[in-house]
Amino acid sequence: MIADQVLTPNTPLRQSKLWMPERVLFTPAALSEPWGKQILARVESLNLPVEELARNRLTGLRGESERDTYDIAKRTLAVVTAPPSSMKLSPIPPSADWQFHLAEGCPAHCQYCYLAGSLQGPPVIRVFANLPQILENLAAYEQPGKSTSFEVSCYTDPLGIEHLTGSLAQCIRYFGTRDDAHLRWVSKFDAVDDLLNLPHNGHTRCRISVNAAPVSGRFEGGTASVSSRLMALRRLALPQEQGGGGYPVGLVIAPIMHIDDWQIHYGRLFDQISEALDFDCDLTFELISHRFTPGSKEVLQTWYPHSKLDMDEDKRSVKRNKFGGTKYVYDTDTMKAMKRFFESEIGRRFPNAKILYWT
Ligand code: SF4
Repeated sequence: MIADQVLTPNTPLRQSKLWMPERVLFTPAALSEPWGKQILARVESLNLPVEELARNRLTGLRGESERDTYDIAKRTLAVVTAPPSSMKLSPIPPSADWQFHLAEGCPAHCQYCYLAGSLQGPPVIRVFANLPQILENLAAYEQPGKSTSFEVSCYTDPLGIEHLTGSLAQCIRYFGTRDDAHLRWVSKFDAVDDLLNLPHNGHTRCRISVNAAPVSGRFEGGTASVSSRLMALRRLALPQEQGGGGYPVGLVIAPIMHIDDWQIHYGRLFDQISEALDFDCDLTFELISHRFTPGSKEVLQTWYPHSKLDMDEDKRSVKRNKFGGTKYVYDTDTMKAMKRFFESEIGRRFPNAKILYWT
């Protein structure tokens, strides 16, 4: 975890360390794909140990305990092909019309991780070698004359693995060529150099996920510091003539936690955001309060047995979905107070920004 630095627009860049896996596994199918070969060339140029598997299956990734399995998996990059079933996209409200995936799994160690309970098997970072096919498939979901949005960060942090894959840049280039399709991605990393000069045509919204210092400092292992993320967002948003990326940008404040002195801590976060984005830009906010499910709690407790993350069901309200699933959320009064605070801070500091949703 990198300590937060004081942020001003003139803060010298101190990019966080890139994640380097200890093993990189390739399936035969992945190696037969041109995009897989491109990933191979990248990881070889970084001198990472490469193993070619005999079959198109990942095995031998389990340790003696769930925590050992977690440790092994989080140090492993597997290059595989996305299965045919992944070509059938699912909607992802309220973030976007559709989700698609360039990878599954994430190298960071957030103790509240959204992936816990969503992905099956050890949390190895799987990246997809058949990216051109994945992108080609998206055209079927576009509606001519109507803007269609695609979210690519539901199951991974695409910037956290970009130095190993180049896949996010390829997605941005692809969406830059589409008339009515828009890409959205979000990250807790900061290595944006290779994204600044891409022909995105305004069709990609780059978002950075941030949180108050007590939450990011305690629960977001392996990520870039919040101030480094904000510097990265500033660079993405600055016009290209000023050395930036000229992208539409966004902040995802998540998961918002009802910690002690939450107004003070989130107020300080807004101070940092205001310093980083002290110029006009196309800016959105997405506000997501902390929640958990019985399944995610169980997985998180095996991954982070000593975590101080508050997942006490007795202090939460139960929300049921139409399929009978249960979520534990903050009670209505707490939610209302926090929502009011965030809306008022954003309205006061960023009158032109759009709040896309509070949940
Ligand atoms: Fe999970 Fe997102 Fe943190 Fe990665 S960055 S560990 S996906 S919460």
